[in-house]
Amino acid sequence: MQLLLKNGRLIDPVSGRDEELDIQVADGTITAIGKNLSAPAAQVIELRGKIVAPGFIDMHVHLREPGFEHKETILTGVTSAAAGGFTAVCCMPNTNPPIDDESVVRFIQAKARTALNGLVDVYPVGAVTKERKGEHLAPMAELSDAGAVAFTDDGDPVHDAEIMRRALEYAAMFGKTIIQHAQDIPLTRGGAMNEGYVATLLGIPGMPPAGEEVVVARDILLARFTGGHYHVAHISTAGVAELLRQARARGEDVSGEVTPHHFTLTDEAVKTYYTNTKMNPPLRTASDVEALRRALKDGTIEVIATDHAPHSFDEKQVEFQFAPFGIVGLETAIGLTITELVSTGVLSLKQMVEKFSTNPRRILLLPPIKIAEGERANLTMIDPSLQWVVDPSTFRSKSKNTPFGGRKLTGKPFGIINNGEVFWN
Ligand SMILES: [Zn+2]
Repeated sequence: MQLLLKNGRLIDPVSGRDEELDIQVADGTITAIGKNLSAPAAQVIELRGKIVAPGFIDMHVHLREPGFEHKETILTGVTSAAAGGFTAVCCMPNTNPPIDDESVVRFIQAKARTALNGLVDVYPVGAVTKERKGEHLAPMAELSDAGAVAFTDDGDPVHDAEIMRRALEYAAMFGKTIIQHAQDIPLTRGGAMNEGYVATLLGIPGMPPAGEEVVVARDILLARFTGGHYHVAHISTAGVAELLRQARARGEDVSGEVTPHHFTLTDEAVKTYYTNTKMNPPLRTASDVEALRRALKDGTIEVIATDHAPHSFDEKQVEFQFAPFGIVGLETAIGLTITELVSTGVLSLKQMVEKFSTNPRRILLLPPIKIAEGERANLTMIDPSLQWVVDPSTFRSKSKNTPFGGRKLTGKPFGIINNGEVFWN
């Protein structure tokens, strides 16, 4: 396979490059970068007006296999990731069995190697506690040796402060991150949406912002105490963004991520009683959205991740209170980010690349992607000006649970290259 990518705008935060260049790729390796390259044997792809960036990673994905293959499989999940412009995903451990044993890590790795010939790198995230029950630490050293890139009980919080302390200490021994699904259980029990005016109007039990904030406040203290690295998943409130800003200003080793739905939608969307507006943490208010955008802009929040959470049609086709939490996100993430953040001046394209590639890889201690001669090609290509309408029936994910069907977006992934494989949209 020989490819000549012509005239793409190479945005590479690692090397500081931002210019129109040709890139030649042979058998998955970058063989030349420059202007006016020619390669008679190569297939030429014209990329004028399009962006070429280091491969994007979504560090918060639920692939559902093993255990919930009616929602998603590793194959459909990585196909969805490829269509969404991601060359890598981290998969969460709330499978059945959960990723609390190295055999499950190896099962996922083996499946991922054969799915689309290994086009998308799949990095399992190990459970913090056995069976994700929050009681006893999982064998974190074995999980780490097998390839777990971080630890979380996502779907549920690590609720016990003593367990969180030990997890931070233990993970720090191998330099790995604890990712917290920040939710105080008693404060949020029974809640199905954000607590506030809209919830009162609709008669739906609410989850207060403090139900997320008290856990993050505690964990920041524990991270300082232990010297461990702590990462907040799917930040949804202005208060969490402010806690993170203050901790980082003190030089503490904490980081966070935000999802496209939390920087795009508010709890007003729940007025439809549409179950694809139900997620955990819930959609909050306009002032929270404003604060999250500010935190992305000033670097407080370094990562955009989707919390891709597939559910079958039947599971979501029930009364709001009984529907499961979560929406799919892989195939709308780049479009929503360009439409909501880049087109509006919140982020530059370079900052977008950092939040989808450079920063999450740094937090997870994955090697940085180098776009240089002799390096393996790991690239995400994006058409930043393509206008399109989200049609869930075209999703490559097995599930279609999105609140964004029919939404007009600007910017779409054009293709990816990774591990010697190519995927075009
Ligand atoms: Zn979560």
